[in-house]
Amino acid sequence: MAEYKAPLRDMRFVLNEVFKASELWASMPRLADVVDAETADAILEEGAKLTARELAPLNRSGDEEGAHWDNGDVTTPAGFKKAFATYAEGGWVGLSGNPKYGGLGMPKMLSAQFEEMMYSANNSFTLYPTLTTGACMALNAHASQEICETYLPNMYAGVWSGSMCLTESHSGTDLGLIHTKAEPQNDGSYRVTGTKIFITAGEHDLTENIIHLVLAKLPNAPKGPRGISLFLVPKRLVNEDGSLGESNDVSCGSIEHKMGIRASATCVMNFDHALGYLIGEVNKGLTAMFTMMNYERLSIGIQGLGCSEMSYQNALEYAKERTQGRAATGATQPDKAADPILEHPDIRRMLLNIKATTEAGRAFSTYVAKQLDLAKFSDNADEKASADALSALLTPLAKAFFTDVGLENCIQGQQIFGGHGYICESGQEQLVRDVRIAQIYEGTNGIQALDLLGRKTVANGGKFFTAFAREVKGFVESNNTKTMAEFVTPLSKALGNLERVTFWVINKAANHPNEIGAASVEYLHVFGYTAYAYMFALMAKTAQDQLTAGTEEESFYLGKLSTARYFYKRLLPRIHSLTEIVISGADPLFELSNDQF
Ligand SMILES: Cc1cc2nc3c(=O)[nH]c(=O)nc-3n(C[C@H](O)[C@H](O)[C@H](O)COP(=O)(O)OP(=O)(O)OC[C@H]3O[C@@H](n4cnc5c(N)ncnc54)[C@H](O)[C@@H]3O)c2cc1C
Repeated sequence: MAEYKAPLRDMRFVLNEVFKASELWASMPRLADVVDAETADAILEEGAKLTARELAPLNRSGDEEGAHWDNGDVTTPAGFKKAFATYAEGGWVGLSGNPKYGGLGMPKMLSAQFEEMMYSANNSFTLYPTLTTGACMALNAHASQEICETYLPNMYAGVWSGSMCLTESHSGTDLGLIHTKAEPQNDGSYRVTGTKIFITAGEHDLTENIIHLVLAKLPNAPKGPRGISLFLVPKRLVNEDGSLGESNDVSCGSIEHKMGIRASATCVMNFDHALGYLIGEVNKGLTAMFTMMNYERLSIGIQGLGCSEMSYQNALEYAKERTQGRAATGATQPDKAADPILEHPDIRRMLLNIKATTEAGRAFSTYVAKQLDLAKFSDNADEKASADALSALLTPLAKAFFTDVGLENCIQGQQIFGGHGYICESGQEQLVRDVRIAQIYEGTNGIQALDLLGRKTVANGGKFFTAFAREVKGFVESNNTKTMAEFVTPLSKALGNLERVTFWVINKAANHPNEIGAASVEYLHVFGYTAYAYMFALMAKTAQDQLTAGTEEESFYLGKLSTARYFYKRLLPRIHSLTEIVISGADPLFELSNDQF
């Protein structure tokens, strides 16, 4: 496995040059005093060291050893505890947390890039703090001040961690079916009873307390999703003075043995009249939980992106070293028995597929994070509303597209290794196993596609989509120059295609209930490639400007333009076949009767 090296140059290009993050931060009073270009750069630099030195070295050993369960106690693999302590002491858990409770208040544009480094270095490790960050966000947004004061400082400090307890054996996607009950007590607290499965970081040895956010139903709650409330249930109770009290009635029944992310403890959690506290309003638990889930969704998308980057670094190193056969145009290393496999068009094709989609994905994750920052920090009501709409639209797209492409990229990296990619030593087979879950948890990618096309597009008559399309058209119009034509002309066509297909589905769905579900996955991919085309047009414009101004880094910017050209010529055309599938409609899916399957 190649040694992980954070792609700092590309991250800085995206953050500082393409999206001019420091100018944006300076324009928002609530960020202006917190972060500037220099601070952001120092954070990325430190993040790169931490992930390369502390997390990446534990990736393979963590996979081989896995998490252990022993009579209710869970231990993480050797080295995890020490690495987590270093991580927590560095203040990384609270990187984007609320400064009022000890967080550092950093923008998502920055923390998203750090998260990418984390996932590249070690998927399993990253899930422990990520769940905590998400739980903190839900508490910060929906819990009382007293709860925030009691829990958030310890969680941001990494002394306590968080978990998200939704899933039950009979209730995954359809959370309206949950059985877990919460009974109100006279003192305003609740007793929570039920069993949750597949709970990431539900039990472990990294922190002294675990704060579970649990979905449960009150007696006589309305049936379905409208009867769900959210509860904070600590593993250990907290005394009035903030010190740790006795154990709560929460236990870990077992952990799962699974395909990948083996060092991440996936737990069965039993709540047996456990003491809990209501978060947010009664029966509005799903709304509160969505604060956590939306954050987690972008983060899990970034898992796909981080794995793509690692796949690229690993496969590129191998493609330069491995010699097999001769270049079709004649030997490039005539003194050796064979040429590096990097000379073969098929190997270049796979490497460029990974490189292009990873660079576009990095830009897109920063772009979505920018919308989240504007929605959170902007004082301009119009800007905030537009950013809210864009982040709602683009979060399910990022989650599903990054992770679908992430698996494809890890498999292509594995293919570059030939048979060695199937063997543990290469590290590629672990990447394939680890990235696979990202398409499934945090709402399957099928559900993300339904969310994008159903709730976020058809349900509002394409309003959010139109806002996105307007922005892209604005870019095309103001960059309709001779030098940018090779990018903006196909971008404009791709956007026109996406617009047509969007309104085709909106119209069809008015009379045919199955059209959304039939179109959604391929629609999401048409949207994803079109969004990436927009990202490459933005990056190409920045690269051209730098080259025109004169730069010592000509090779970097020329490389960016070549990668953009590759994307436009060899990946963007995928939208045509995907569009054909979308507009074939739902009928072919239902021609076969159920008993003909
Ligand atoms: C390793 C791991 C870690 C996890 N971590 C957590 C965690 O920390 N907390 C937590 O609460 N859960 C967690 N989960 C659970 C995970 O989020 C669920 O597995 C996932 O949401 C899918 O639910 P399910 O497995 O019950 O599948 P189901 O809901 O049974 O879905 C089965 C299939 O049907 C499809 N489907 C279902 N409903 C519809 C519909 N209405 N329309 C179209 N298609 C549909 C799905 O897309 C899927 O393909 C984890 C799971 C795993 C494996």
